[in-house]
Amino acid sequence: MYNAKAYSAAGATSPLASAKIARRDPTEHDVQIDILFCGICHSDLHQARDEWHDGFPTVYPCVPGHEIVGRVTRVGSAVAKFKPGDLAAVGCLVDSDRTCPNCQAGLEQFCPHATFTYNSPDKHLGGVTYGGYSDSIVVDEAFVLRVPSNLDLAGTAPLLCAGITTYSPLRHWGVTKGKKAGVVGIGGLGHMAVKLAHALGAHVVVFTTSPGKKDDALRLGADEVVISRNADEMRRHAGSFDFILDAVAAEHDINAYIQLLRRDGNITLVGAPAKPLPVAVFGLIFARRSFSGSLIGGIAETQEMLDFCGAHNITADVEVIPIQKVNEAYERLLCSDVKYRFSIDMASLKSE
Ligand SMILES: [Zn+2]
Ligand SMILES: [Zn+2]
Repeated sequence: MYNAKAYSAAGATSPLASAKIARRDPTEHDVQIDILFCGICHSDLHQARDEWHDGFPTVYPCVPGHEIVGRVTRVGSAVAKFKPGDLAAVGCLVDSDRTCPNCQAGLEQFCPHATFTYNSPDKHLGGVTYGGYSDSIVVDEAFVLRVPSNLDLAGTAPLLCAGITTYSPLRHWGVTKGKKAGVVGIGGLGHMAVKLAHALGAHVVVFTTSPGKKDDALRLGADEVVISRNADEMRRHAGSFDFILDAVAAEHDINAYIQLLRRDGNITLVGAPAKPLPVAVFGLIFARRSFSGSLIGGIAETQEMLDFCGAHNITADVEVIPIQKVNEAYERLLCSDVKYRFSIDMASLKSE
């Protein structure tokens, strides 16, 4: 074991603060990574504050962070994929049982025994896993991703959650050239969905409540922007979409979007409103439309996404901050005051 520097929450109402945590020395299959950047995901805030208490209670101290990019410093004797000096990335998963039907299908995110990057039982040291708000992390090589060398590293970090969360449903539902894809909401997830759907060749339409976001949506790769409060504008697109990705976590009228799908069209939710949504089922029945959800992606697909981003030079739009500004960043996240993701420059942790 060794001590690593980190920022952790001591309780649901405590701000994140500098702390020391124990990390395991690399076992034969492990890779030790010096963390260079870690993105801030909204689920970091939810878990640091124990807001998912009912389903996924937080164990303190809590070190959030699952959008990790860094450089390999040490590898175990059996590690074949990485050597010291390589760039490497870690997303939301650091292990799984590797035997269940989901793991066999390469869908480790649905494994009933998945080990998440933080706040998940730690098989090696006991207690819970600690995430990327830290100077280093040790992860089994099977859950470590390769990073294309051409990408900006601060903007690459958010690909590990926001990127794969949007890439996976776009691929699953066949978004490609000749398809019309909608993206509802442009925040951390939505802005990635726009870039990725555009690079996949689809005709991309962004739905937003704020006319002020129109120019930015076009810059990100949208072909059209619809102000969702304008019923006439919405009606013009009725029955025309192959796929809509809904990234809004706030309460909103899902039925207005279902009406925009063509026959067999699908709307997938990746934002999770706290209250159950009222769905008008006739909207689904009459055109065999479907309504679904999606959760990050498996390890193979996460690598595919990173390689795709490398080939198309896609990264997240980030505001880089030092770790000392993380509590302020959380407050700004609550009022969507970021374009479009915070990325923590982990070099700032060295002075703690
Ligand atoms: Zn996340
Ligand atoms: Zn499994």
